Amino acid sequence: MKKNIVLFFLFLAVILFAGNKLEIKELTGSLVKVAEGWKIKSEAKEDSIYFGTEEQLASKNIELKEVDKISVKYALIDDKNTILSYVIGENEIVLRDSEGNWIESKKGSYKVDAASCIGCNLCPRSCPVNAITMVKGKAIIDADKCIDCGLCEDSCPVGAISK
Ligand code: SF4
Ligand code: SF4
Repeated sequence: MKKNIVLFFLFLAVILFAGNKLEIKELTGSLVKVAEGWKIKSEAKEDSIYFGTEEQLASKNIELKEVDKISVKYALIDDKNTILSYVIGENEIVLRDSEGNWIESKKGSYKVDAASCIGCNLCPRSCPVNAITMVKGKAIIDADKCIDCGLCEDSCPVGAISK
């Protein structure tokens, strides 16, 4: 009898655990802004992938720009395909865990050496999340927005950006 009760609770735990798991899919394409939000355009197929509502993105300090190549993991949450993580450049940026809960974002670690910066304005254009601004002819990175993708480092002609 006792064994049956233990087995029942084990079975229940497996059901509950399985019920919380999302079916995670992957897609690679370009990120474009359309009327209804942000869309990943894949050459193989077209799909609408939502990063979350504008309010959610603003609260997470996420400000996207169109990029040519992005890889995403996504799942169906609240009847919408929602991004769990994405890769622009080299790093995977995780937004939600495998159950769909938002993860607290960490600060980026890229910095500009102001003494080396020649103010060419290339790095702000390369940043996919608008984390770089020019102040008095020098680039400044907002660590709260930076996702550590490394694209600005590649764009700098004088090697002024590093981790
Ligand atoms: S590493 Fe550079 S390009 Fe990438 S998000 Fe940070 S500031 Fe922007
Ligand atoms: S790309 Fe390099 S030199 Fe040009 S603005 Fe950015 S940090 Fe300065």
